[in-house]
Order: sequence, then structure tokens, then C-alpha cells
Amino acid sequence: MSISTKHNVTVEKVSKSRIDEIDFDNLVFGTTFSDHMFECDYKDGSWQNPTIRPYGPLTISPAAKVFHYGQAVFEGMKAFKDDNGNAFLFRPKDNFKRINISAKRMAIPEFPEEIFFEAMHRLMELDKAWIRPGFGNSLYIRPFAIATQAGVSAAPSDQYKFMILLSPAQAYYTGDVRVVFAEKFSRSANGGVGYAKAAGNYGAQFYPTNLAREKGFQQIIWTDANTHEYLEEAGTMNIFFRVNDTLITAPTGDRILDGITRKSVLKIAEHMGITCDVRPVSVKEIVAAVKDGSLKEIFGSGTAAIISPISAFGYQEEVYELPKSNTRYSDRFKQALMEIQYNKGEDPFDWRYPVG
Ligand SMILES: *Cc1c(COP(=O)(O)O)cnc(C)c1O
Repeated sequence: MSISTKHNVTVEKVSKSRIDEIDFDNLVFGTTFSDHMFECDYKDGSWQNPTIRPYGPLTISPAAKVFHYGQAVFEGMKAFKDDNGNAFLFRPKDNFKRINISAKRMAIPEFPEEIFFEAMHRLMELDKAWIRPGFGNSLYIRPFAIATQAGVSAAPSDQYKFMILLSPAQAYYTGDVRVVFAEKFSRSANGGVGYAKAAGNYGAQFYPTNLAREKGFQQIIWTDANTHEYLEEAGTMNIFFRVNDTLITAPTGDRILDGITRKSVLKIAEHMGITCDVRPVSVKEIVAAVKDGSLKEIFGSGTAAIISPISAFGYQEEVYELPKSNTRYSDRFKQALMEIQYNKGEDPFDWRYPVG
């Protein structure tokens, strides 16, 4: 192992890469990790000892607050490679800003921008071979922060660990996504943590999602917690409706996460001259629109799958099938996003961020 320090981040390289053992044609999303990971600890009031070291297990006290109170936040972002071997991140500054917005809500100290970007550059340098070129291939990046102070008293931790893991991914085909509109359970509420990428937001969705699965739906479209009359988001994705030729999506706020894919889709749609309507979307109007044929598409947007077309939705024991089409907005947006991500076209909004 060789150890070097550049600026702040100490690097301990693997003695031998595991890359030859990886079957890149048969990856299961989020289960394979690259050679290196980043780790930085917060104690005595500051983030210290930023280190990149071989991917591997941690030793943490079982009394660490993250295990008891879920004080944890995360991000999801991707690196892409073009056909000439150049690597890019997609809008990483937005992910960086957002993890600190989430951290603030969870009383986790803000992480410094210079360390984040230095770590990211060094990781990309070291594990560049793990980013495969070709549409659909990417390196999924998972930054996260957890409360590590040992002690089960219910108060914010005074120690944290910030980490970044890298996981090679293939095209994430969600297939035929059938969703159900939430009528009973809620994902988030006014004044809550719905806008944050807080670990517990996901944990709390698993049970209602299992119930939906038993009824043949893969995902839930969450509605507002007070009335269940407004469609908000899918919980891992934001959600768009196309009624006639207008693209409609709910505004972000306390309850709806400000997705980077969502805001990219809105920009691209605008650029394409598509009318966008950002406003509360009622269950009633969407049911009426599917009945009169004006509802053309529903799709989700998120980093993992980019765009997930939805084929049907369930509401009040009815299932409504969406029309099939080969002139979908969702296909156009996905293509436009991928052309930017894989450096196949212009980058009019300056979203590509070169990392070697
Ligand atoms: C991460 C996430 C999204 C999607 O955000 P992207 O930045 O587009 O990946 C949507 N909703 C929730 C609740 C999320 O956690």
C-alpha cells in the first residue's frame, strides 16, 4: 500500500484492484463497490482526517446514535464516461448543496465544500476504470453522513462520519412501472423532513410499499398528508404528468424533495418549447384526464433510473392504464439528459463537470 497526501485528503491505495473480478454485464444496482472509499470524521467541533482507503467494513460502537435515532443523511449522484475515456459528474454542486441542506435539518454539521470536491476528484482518479463508457453505464456515487457518538441519550451526536462510496451501475430498467396513489399512508408532512435526503424517509416507506407490491404495484405516488387529494412525488423520484401537451409537476417545498433530475427535466422541456406548469396536481384532475384521454403520460425522475415511464396507476380499487405511444416526452427527456451526461452533445446549461 502506498500512502500520499495531496492538500487535505490522505490516500491509502489498494495493493491490488478487484476490478478483474467484476462482471460488469451483470451488475445488481447498488451491490458492487469500487476499490476505494472516502471517510472523514467530525469530532471536537471540526471535520478531520479526510482519508481515502480501500473499501471495507467499519468498526462503530453499537451505541452509535445513527443506529438508535436515525441521524443520517445521504446523496445519490453519478459519474459518466464518454467514448474517449473522459469522465464527468452531473451537476455535483447541486448534490453538495443538498446534502448540507439535509444535514442542517438533521442537526448534522455542514460538510466543507473543498474537502468534498477534493475527495471526489481523487476518488475518480483512483477508480476511473470503474466508470464504464456506453449509454446506461455509470458509477453511482453515494455520499452519506452518520452520527457516530456512542450513547443512547436522545440528543444530537457530537461525532459524525462522512463517507463516499462508489458503485458501478448498468442501465436501470424499471420495466413496466405500475403505481398506486396513496390514500392512507404518508411520506412527509408540513414542517417535517420530506425535503431532506434523510435515511429514515426511505425506511418509513418500505412497509406501505410492501403492501402496494402485494396488490401488484411497484411504487406509491405519495399524496399530501392532510387531504390525500394532491399528488406529490414517488418517494425516490419526482413525478411528472403530461396532460395533452402540457407538462405538469408539483412545486417543491417542505414535503417534496428538490430533485436534480426534476429541475433538469423542467429546464430541458422549456428549452424544447414544451409548456410546463409547476403547480399542485390534484388526484381528481388526473383521474378525470385519464378518463377523457387527455392524460398522455406519467413518469418519474431521479438519478438512479433517470426517467421511469409509468404504465398504469391504481386509485380507489380501480386501475387506470395509460396510453402507449412512441412519441413520449419521457423518451425525449431521457435521450436529452443522456446526451449531456455522456458528452454526446452540447451542454447548454453547463451541467457536465469534468473529473479526468
Ligand atoms: C433523491 C430523491 C429524489 C430524486 O432526486 P434526484 O436529485 O433527481 O436524484 C426524489 N425524491 C426523493 C424523496 C429523493 O430522496
